[in-house]
Amino acid sequence: MTNPREMLTAYGLSPKKALGQNFLHDPNAVEKIASIGVQSADEAVLEIGPGVGALTEALAKRARRVVAVELDESLTPILHDRLKPYANVEIVYGDILKQDPAAVMGADAENYVVAANVPYYITSAILRHLLESSARPRRLTIMMQMEVAEKLIAKPGDMSLLTVSVQYYAKAQIAAKFPPAVFFPRPDVYSAVVRLDVFETPPVDAPEAVFFQVAKAGFSQKRKQLKNSLGSGLHIETAEAAALCITAGIDPQRRPETLTLAEWAALARAWEGKRAGHTLSDLDS
Ligand code: SAM
Repeated sequence: MTNPREMLTAYGLSPKKALGQNFLHDPNAVEKIASIGVQSADEAVLEIGPGVGALTEALAKRARRVVAVELDESLTPILHDRLKPYANVEIVYGDILKQDPAAVMGADAENYVVAANVPYYITSAILRHLLESSARPRRLTIMMQMEVAEKLIAKPGDMSLLTVSVQYYAKAQIAAKFPPAVFFPRPDVYSAVVRLDVFETPPVDAPEAVFFQVAKAGFSQKRKQLKNSLGSGLHIETAEAAALCITAGIDPQRRPETLTLAEWAALARAWEGKRAGHTLSDLDS
C-alpha cells in the first residue's frame, strides 16, 4: 500500500494542516523529484519532512544514504514499516529549523544534497537555514509553492530579498511544475520543483556579512527609492545613502527590486569602504 490517504487511515491518522502536510500521491511526481534530486548513486541526501515516506523510498533506491528529518512523531509507525527494507535510511525526529545540518549529516556534512517536498509555510526559512549554514548542501531539489519558486528565479525588476539571498548562494531553475492534484490533500496552490546548484564561491565580489547587511537595508522599506530604504536600514542620513549609491555607480532614485547582484555587491563594497573611513577618522579625533 502506497496511497497516502489509505496509509494514514490504516494507521488511524489524518493529515495535519498546521504542519503543512500535503502528501505526494502521484508516483510520477515522486519519481520526478527523486530523479532530479539524486544525480549519482554515491550521493548522501538530506530530506525534510518525509511524511509517509513516498519520496524517502524513491530516494533510498537511488542514493547511498538518506537522512530524513520529520517533526511529526505520530508518523513513526508508518515510516518504520515502509522503510524497514532500506538499510541506508535514517529518520531523525525534530524541527529542521532547529537542527544543525552538519550534525545531522555527520560524516557526509562536507558533501551532501537536499531533496524534499517541504512544508510550504516554512519554505523560505528552510532555504535560509540550509544556505546560511556552515555545512551548505551542494544541490537542493525542493518542491514548493509556484509563487515562491518564481521569486527564486526572478530577474532584476522583480527581485526581492529572498531572490537576492538565494541567488547569492546558488543558480536557481524551475525543473518541474505540478498541479494540486498530485497531492493528498490538495493544496490551494500550484507547485514547482526548484533545483538550486550551490556555487563553490559566490558569483559576486563582496564580503558575505556586508553584502547581506546592505541588501537587507535596501529592502527594509517596500516601494521606496534606494537612498531612502538604505538610509533608514543602515541608520545614516538620506544624503549619505545617496552618496553611497553614487560611489557604487547606482542612481539613488532606483528601487531595490531593480538592482542586480553585482550592484548589491558594489554597494556592499562602497559601504565597507565608507565604514573603514569612519573608523580611521574616529581614530584621528
Ligand atoms: N515528503 C512527504 C511527501 O512528499 O509526501 C511529505 C511532504 S509534506 C508537504 C511536509 C512534511 O514536513 C510533513 O510530513 C510534515 O509533518 C513535515 N514537517 C512540517 N514542519 C516540519 C519541520 N519544521 N521540520 C521537519 N519536518 C516538518
